Amino acid sequence: MDLPSAINALKASLGDEAVDCDARSCQIASRDYFWLSPILSQQLRDCPLASAVVKPQNLLDLAKALSIAYQYEVPITPRGKGTGNYGQAVPVDGGIVFDLTAMNQVIEVESDWITAETGCNFLQLEAATESLDRELQIIPSTTKSTLGGFIGGGAGGAGSVQYGFIWNDFVDSLEILPCVENPEPFWVSGEECLNYLHAFGTTGIITKAKVRLRPRRNWTALYFSFGADQISKAAAAAKAFTKLPIVPRLNTFDLPEAVALLPKNAAMPAGRISLRPMVDKSTVDNCIQIVEQLGGRFEAEKPEDLENLHLLSYNHFTLRAKQKRPEICHLQLAGDAMVEKTEAILSLLPDSALHLECRLVDDKQSFGGLLVSRFVDRATIANAIESLRSLGLQVVNVHSDKLGEGHLPKIENVIRTKAVNDPKNLLNRGRLPSETVVATFPEE
Ligand SMILES: Cc1cc2nc3c(=O)[nH]c(=O)nc-3n(C[C@H](O)[C@H](O)[C@H](O)COP(=O)(O)OP(=O)(O)OC[C@H]3O[C@@H](n4cnc5c(N)ncnc54)[C@H](O)[C@@H]3O)c2cc1C
Repeated sequence: MDLPSAINALKASLGDEAVDCDARSCQIASRDYFWLSPILSQQLRDCPLASAVVKPQNLLDLAKALSIAYQYEVPITPRGKGTGNYGQAVPVDGGIVFDLTAMNQVIEVESDWITAETGCNFLQLEAATESLDRELQIIPSTTKSTLGGFIGGGAGGAGSVQYGFIWNDFVDSLEILPCVENPEPFWVSGEECLNYLHAFGTTGIITKAKVRLRPRRNWTALYFSFGADQISKAAAAAKAFTKLPIVPRLNTFDLPEAVALLPKNAAMPAGRISLRPMVDKSTVDNCIQIVEQLGGRFEAEKPEDLENLHLLSYNHFTLRAKQKRPEICHLQLAGDAMVEKTEAILSLLPDSALHLECRLVDDKQSFGGLLVSRFVDRATIANAIESLRSLGLQVVNVHSDKLGEGHLPKIENVIRTKAVNDPKNLLNRGRLPSETVVATFPEE
């Protein structure tokens, strides 16, 4: 690797202003939300920083920058907004971070699709679809994160109740720029897209994406509550909402211990389960009827609270819990055992709390969510993961910055794609399980 020559060549080619070597900029661009995990926090906090942040303004600049990185064999970490929570945007082998947020043009909005540069964020994309009365099928709770970062490092969010995750037909096609001597963009579609989804940018830089839209709905936020011992009733209500003519965009609920970790809200009474669907206004009466028949209580309808529902969903729950109790550690679970074996789950770890989302998995609505608890040590978490699996739950290891560990795509597909698109292994180095750039949990 010849980093100084690469930086000089980048400045000569893209202009000084596109290559930022300021220590503070490099520090910020070299970290993400891995600190939500006490394990990753310990593992990644002393990782090297990037030596420069390159911010290409267009595809041509990006191609030139990739070619220079290839020539001087400099590791590159693609970056969107840096909201990934597995440390997947941390340049564990140093080198240069490519900030892709300036490549943010919406190319085309059709009735069922939007095609955009991947530096676009979700607020921009949702605004672009408004005039056609459409919205994105799924968006993460981090609405300011980028399309490229979501496809490259995320999974699901609002809309997953009905449409599942990014690999469930959300993506039609992707424009990819490989890291080779003379990078030329090419498009992939169908099954071939799977080699790039949640691949942490290791198989090529996604420069444009065509993703699926749905009719825009007249969403409103509903708040319901159930008694602390009524989890099966709350779960039944959440599932019943998914049978309505218009399925909710979010279908979130928290057990009382989890409610206590969230900001105080009169519509989320202490000591009770809080169920908070984002529903179409035409279905409000049906939802109230469902909940009351199951013995729950209608607390409030707040059309102005859509943003709040996003900020109480998915890993925003972990963020809120961490802000209240910095000592917590989270685990990401999936499976109906989350509502069937709640007591057993909560008894595994100290001071634990459960946050749930109802989403579409393998063509049926099921539960997934987050178990937070007081962090003791790695061994306790590793044992809990084993116990949770024996209770019939799927557990994604959120304490690893590696591919695999329960995440898609398949490692053999990453290796095969990388051999063609990144023959010098410069793209987001250190993410393959076989690479030992940093030690990985739980072997330590
Ligand atoms: C509070 C909180 C809530 C969250 N909620 C959700 C949620 O609801 N759903 C969800 O799925 N995730 C969620 N996440 C995780 C994260 O927000 C998503 O992964 C997010 O969409 C990442 O986008 P980003 O622009 O921040 O990407 P970054 O963090 O910058 O990058 C993510 C990964 O993608 C790679 N990458 C970035 N751009 C490209 C590109 N153009 N081509 C190839 N690779 C690229 C990066 O190298 C990195 O590996 C949450 C995280 C936090 C901290």
